[in-house]
Amino acid sequence: MDFSLSPELRALRERTRDFIAEQVIPLENDERQSSHGPSEALRRELVGRAKAAALLTPHASREMGGLGLSHIAKAVVFEEAGYSWLGPTALNIHAPDEGNIHLMEEVATPAQKERWLRPQVTGQTRSCFAMTEPAPGAGADPSMLTTTAVRDGDDYLINGLKWFITGAEGADYVIVMARMEDGSATMFLADMDRPGIVLERSMDAMDACFTGGHGVLRFDNLRVPAADVLGEIGKGFRYAQVRLAPARLTHCMRWLGQARRAHDTALAYARKRHAFGQPLVQHEGVGFMLADNDMDLHTARLHIWHTAWLLDQGEKCNFESSRAKVVCSEAQWRVVDRSVQILGGQGVTGESPVMRIFTDMRAFRIYDGPSEVHRWSMARKLVHLAEKIEMEAHA
Ligand SMILES: Cc1cc2nc3c(=O)[nH]c(=O)nc-3n(C[C@H](O)[C@H](O)[C@H](O)COP(=O)(O)OP(=O)(O)OC[C@H]3O[C@@H](n4cnc5c(N)ncnc54)[C@H](O)[C@@H]3O)c2cc1C
Repeated sequence: MDFSLSPELRALRERTRDFIAEQVIPLENDERQSSHGPSEALRRELVGRAKAAALLTPHASREMGGLGLSHIAKAVVFEEAGYSWLGPTALNIHAPDEGNIHLMEEVATPAQKERWLRPQVTGQTRSCFAMTEPAPGAGADPSMLTTTAVRDGDDYLINGLKWFITGAEGADYVIVMARMEDGSATMFLADMDRPGIVLERSMDAMDACFTGGHGVLRFDNLRVPAADVLGEIGKGFRYAQVRLAPARLTHCMRWLGQARRAHDTALAYARKRHAFGQPLVQHEGVGFMLADNDMDLHTARLHIWHTAWLLDQGEKCNFESSRAKVVCSEAQWRVVDRSVQILGGQGVTGESPVMRIFTDMRAFRIYDGPSEVHRWSMARKLVHLAEKIEMEAHA
């Protein structure tokens, strides 16, 4: 494995770092934000700035108007963008659009790409991804899907209730996952202004970094023409994996930027602030927390880069992306939690950016698979592998 960065990638990293410092961080206290995220007006301003800096939607293919970044290149650029909670919005690499763009590139027809993907890559439009449902529907276990799609002539009629749908308010289109009459699942594309899609409410959440918040969406006899099926009928669960393996990893990349910001803020404070006759950083208790932060950041980065490298070799990486997701979400959380501690009262108030990072990051251990589910699925694979090795040895 060679992790040396090309001169072009180093230059792109520097350009992204400067862009975030000069054009994005100054907007962090902009009033066009609420507990449900940056407003559409602020998003458009940020996207305009990234476009002018030639940094918009860098993960999209060159054919679609992006920079066609490899997974390793994404790891480098997304970490830099993640240094500000507004950075991923500016570069158009935030969830769920980033994952949806990847899925659309892989699965959509040429006509679907022209209609939905191209305007999304230019930052003109946004999307959402509707899979999770209230009990007894799909949650940590996606196979419990209750939303139905029933064939009606040349169309499908979709009925069901989804929640936690990030970006739903103000999104231009949705990718809906629904159960077919034979029990398989299919993904459907639909413009959000079609009759039959009702945004019941936006949910209050701990985080405030996603434009459009997290919505409850009802599908009430939504009529979708067969031409708007995403990929093939019955392959919804497989496409969910196509989307999720890289999407999990890009969460790790962006949140690594936020964890590094929290650590940098804590380190700066600990060097400057005195207690009991010396700077905080000279107290072993604080120094050890900073050293632990450094080790957690480094461990997270190694997992991201290793999995990104495997993805670049064309490997599926479901196991490795689960492992990276658990390691990163927990290591990055520890970094932010320690940073809060080092900052004292400022860590739990808006006086420092770390409070905001703390509340924004908590859900990362739950979405795209809670840590427990990843551990459980990894354990099953480990047992399976051990049994296979044993059988081969006895054969
Ligand atoms: C901020 C946020 C944004 C989200 N965005 C989207 C989105 O855009 N689109 C979308 O479709 N969904 C989205 N989700 C939903 C998210 O993917 C689900 O919350 C997640 O899959 C867990 O499902 P659940 O909330 O129904 O929890 P449940 O399924 O009720 O699980 C609750 C808890 O049970 C435990 N658990 C479950 N299974 C196991 C097991 N096998 N072993 C041990 N413990 C277990 C875990 O601790 C888990 O957290 C989002 C969620 C959040 C919080």
